[in-house]
Amino acid sequence: TDIKELLLSRIRDVADYPEPGVLFKDITPLLADPAAFTALTDALAELTVRHGATKIVGLEARGFILGAPAAVRAGVGFIPVRKAGKLPGATLGQAYDLEYGSAEIEVHAEDLSVGDRVMVIDDVLATGGTAEASLQLIRRAGAQVAGVAVLMELSFLPGRQRLETALAGAPLEAL
Ligand code: IMP
Repeated sequence: TDIKELLLSRIRDVADYPEPGVLFKDITPLLADPAAFTALTDALAELTVRHGATKIVGLEARGFILGAPAAVRAGVGFIPVRKAGKLPGATLGQAYDLEYGSAEIEVHAEDLSVGDRVMVIDDVLATGGTAEASLQLIRRAGAQVAGVAVLMELSFLPGRQRLETALAGAPLEAL
């Protein structure tokens, strides 16, 4: 489709970043292009509304850049899910495994409650570990998962399969 071509044309492949052998998808050219950034924001907002979400969770850090304008456009609240230790209030935390070691994300406990339907937004779905942990946080807070929406899914990695259980039938949308 037209939007897919536009978005793809504004994503830069950076070889051997952040380490040798990795082809990094850099979205900064897209953010710098108002036509592309607007098209992406509109598409994410449309998915948010279509799937009946009442809140957007953005995953640090690029999920903030994409999720916040989509939340404004969709007319829903924005909730940051941050790396552990960054949020000042009472938090819920979720640890998850990385290739080497582990990481933990947190959300303000008061930001999510029963009755919320949450769309998770990020730029890239790779192994799915970050998104999976965010879905576990959302459910532990008692909220419902409306879906996950990303700009890009790296389909040569098993992220989609990893998310299957946590999604429990909710959609994974990759633009
Ligand atoms: P995952 O947990 O392995 O799915 O990794 C996803 C997280 O890592 C997301 O928050 C992404 O922003 C980031 N990430 C992984 N690969 C890339 C990439 O190629 N470009 C930009 N971000 C990436």
